[in-house]
Formats: sequence, structure tokens, C-alpha cells
Amino acid sequence: MHEATIAQLAQELKSRKISSQELTKHFLERISRLDADLNAFITITQNDALAQAKAADARLASGEGTPLTGIPIAHKDIFCTKGVKTSCGSRMLDNFISPYDATVVARLKQAGAVMLGKTNMDEFAMGSSNETSFYGPAHNPWDRDTVPGGSSGGSAAAVAARMACGATGTDTGGSIRQPAAFSGVTGVKPTYGRVSRYGIVAFASSLDQAGTLTRTAEDAALMLQIMSGPDELDSTALPNLVPDFCKALKDPWENITIGVPDNFFDKDLDPNNAQLIRDALSVFEKLGATIKEIHLENIHLSVPVYYVVAPAEASSNLSRFDGIRYGYRAEGESGDLAEFYMRTRGEGFGAEVKRRILMGTYVLSAGYYDAYYLQAQKIRQLISQDFSRAFEDVDLIAGPTAPTPAFSIGQKINDPIQMYLNDIYTIGAPLAGLPALSTPCGLVNNLPVGLQLIGPHLSEERLLKAAHYFQQETDWHTLVPPGYFE
Ligand code: GLN
Repeated sequence: MHEATIAQLAQELKSRKISSQELTKHFLERISRLDADLNAFITITQNDALAQAKAADARLASGEGTPLTGIPIAHKDIFCTKGVKTSCGSRMLDNFISPYDATVVARLKQAGAVMLGKTNMDEFAMGSSNETSFYGPAHNPWDRDTVPGGSSGGSAAAVAARMACGATGTDTGGSIRQPAAFSGVTGVKPTYGRVSRYGIVAFASSLDQAGTLTRTAEDAALMLQIMSGPDELDSTALPNLVPDFCKALKDPWENITIGVPDNFFDKDLDPNNAQLIRDALSVFEKLGATIKEIHLENIHLSVPVYYVVAPAEASSNLSRFDGIRYGYRAEGESGDLAEFYMRTRGEGFGAEVKRRILMGTYVLSAGYYDAYYLQAQKIRQLISQDFSRAFEDVDLIAGPTAPTPAFSIGQKINDPIQMYLNDIYTIGAPLAGLPALSTPCGLVNNLPVGLQLIGPHLSEERLLKAAHYFQQETDWHTLVPPGYFE
């Protein structure tokens, strides 16, 4: 059953060839057998899952439901889940049971999806390898000595190892697309505001966006259909009505122009990865697309800009973790409030989170605000304008998702700059609020590589359709990590 996609399982559930209870038990069995080696899950919600599956079967029996009714999925542990621990990968929230559901969680629940559990992630979504998690690193099923990517590494590993049909993720600078590339799955980051951020633990509010990790573009369309749309609980959620993503996949191919930024083929890009991206572009050419080289003037500044803007917003967002309202609280008597805050935050946060809070506080402080924060905001605007200009001539932009395949656990964790540079191709899209995705496009040394597609604002239909057509022409997205087929 785990070899089927969501789209296929939806048919079998609907025709009652299988039941959601069978399906859910099957995935729970896989998790209990496989996850000890992968550490993809922080929490497994077995009893809730079985109860939800039972309810889904009843709904399906009465001929009702949605394509997700009865489908077992997992949520990144950044999404608030009512009555279930929501840790965000941090000691700070290790004891936090959310009193409410995030909008994404509520909508998927309402659609009848079954939640198997909460997936591992970098602490507060800060990282590219899942190694900053308080719960230890998740492992890449393709090679357990390598990282699954981050910060949505647990979601990527869970989907790649067929421990969930699909999973949610969030992407601030690449955290859906990069783990999708490293783990050989499809990762979609919608337009900023397409999906509500209500109930998602905030990292950098002007960049954070929820999306999906699935096996196929079609499965992503099914999940995003339910997750997207206006939400009165999030004033930055866009008012735009959500088009029929699944219908868009079935539309006939139109001859689009795909722009390929010359700056993406730089010295950082592994030549083997570069070759696979070129091969992928020729698949689009065969489909009838026109490939056009473009230049994004300021994209090389995206990493430095991001590492000013994101930590600035994080330092403000994370000020709420003070040991008083909720979350971790330092033990022992404290006469002095400032000392109590320092102990709580000193013990509750890990090294990377502290580094970001320090950087963010620094760039926002009087005297440095103009030199760093304001400057970064201006360059962010230029990067955004470069994309807008490019989209006057091309329909989509294509390039690599990451410079290399998955790297080894431990390889970059002590070198933050090397770790940050891994996001060199993914950071531009969130800085400009653009939708983007990663789809598997080959293997290098038996490790998956991702092709990235970026579209103009609200072009999810076009993006998903392009990925879907690519997946009809290739079989990279069907490959199973060795040892995880059975
Ligand atoms: N790796 C980037 C960071 O550490 C992006 C993380 C993300 O998208 N959440 O900030």
C-alpha cells in the first residue's frame, strides 16, 4: 500500500478496495519498524490516527469525503496541533501541548486526512540539515550517514521512506525545497500568503510559508487544494480564491518559455548536479518549451540579505519564549527577573537559535539598523524587481535546488557559513514571495538531486502542471531509497 501515491490511494479508498484503518495500520507499522533508524518523527499519534481512520471509513462508507479522506499524513512539528505536543524541534517547547490547531492542520483534519504524527525539524526551522533539532538529527533514507536536508528534514525522510503518504512543511529560505531535493521527493512552497500562517510557530514572518512534501506533483496539488485560501485568522493570507490545481494538471501542455539564470550555474554547483539540471531542461524542450538564458542581477546577494532579515525577524518573534507564559522554564529560585530570563533562554535554546537571536538583535540595534537592516531591505526589493523583470519574458525560472546532493551528518554543522551557502539557490524565491518547487531529476552517487522551478506570484497552477508533465516524462520521482521498498 505504501508504494501507491495519494491520488491512487484516494481512488482505492473511494471504491472501498481498502479501508483507511488498514492503510493507517500499515503506515503505523512501517513507522514503528523503520523510524528507529531514521528519527523522522518526534511524536507518533497512534491512537488519534486510528480514531481518525475509523471516522474516515464511516465518512467514505456514506459516499462522502474529499480526495484526502482517510489518507495518512504527517505534520512538521512547527504546526500547532490541538492536544498534541508541538515542540518546533526545541527544548524550549518540549513540554508544550498546543491548545489549538493551526489553520493548515484544521483544514486537513476537516478534509478527513489522518495525522500519523509530528515530524523532526531543525530547531525553530533554523538549519539546512535537521542537525539543530533538540531531538537529534533525522537521517536520509537514501544513505543514513547523510542529512535529509532541513529544516523540514523529518517530513522529507518520512515521505521518502514511505512512512507517510505526504507531509506538511514550511519554507523560509528553502526548508521545503532543499530537503525534498536531498530526499528525492516533491516539495512545493506556494506564494507568500497563499496558505495561512495561523498556528505555525513563527520564525521570520515576512518569509515563512507552509507547503507540502509528497511523492508527486499531483499529490501536492491534492494537499494544497485543501491547505490554501483566505483565512480571517491570518491578515497576511491572500484573499484570492484558490484555482482548481488538480484540473490544471490535466490541461494540455502550452509552449511556455523557461528562463535559466546563468548565475545559478556558478562555481558552487557540483558539475554532476549541473548536468542533471541540463538533462531536465532538455526534457522540457522535448515537451515544446523554449529555454532562454537569463540573468538575475542581484541574486548573489540573497544569502547575505536573508541572514540579516530572517534573524532580525526571528529575534523579535522568539522574544515570546520567556519561561513565564509557556514552554521551558529554568528551575530553581530566581530573585532577579533578568537573571531568570537569561537562565531560561540560555538553557531552552540551542546554539544555532542563539546565534540567530544575537545576529538579529545586533542588526536591529540603534547605530546598526541603517547599516544592515535597512540596507538588506533595500536589496531585498532589488532582488524582487529582478524576478519581476525576468517574468516579463519568461513563464517560469528553472535551476538547481541545491549545489550538491545530501552531505554527511556532521560535515557542515560546525561551519555556519558553509551551511548557509547550501541555500544559495532557494533563498531568492521567499525573499520575493514567489512560489517555487523542487522535483527529483536524477541521482549523483546514488543520492537524489532536485530541479527547482520558480514562478511569478500565484502561478501555482503553472508550476504544478510543469512538474506534473516532467514527472510523466521521467521516473526519478518513483525511485525508492534502497531498503525501503518492502
Ligand atoms: N536553511 C535556512 C535557514 O537556516 C532556511 C530555513 C527555512 O527555510 N526554514 O534559515
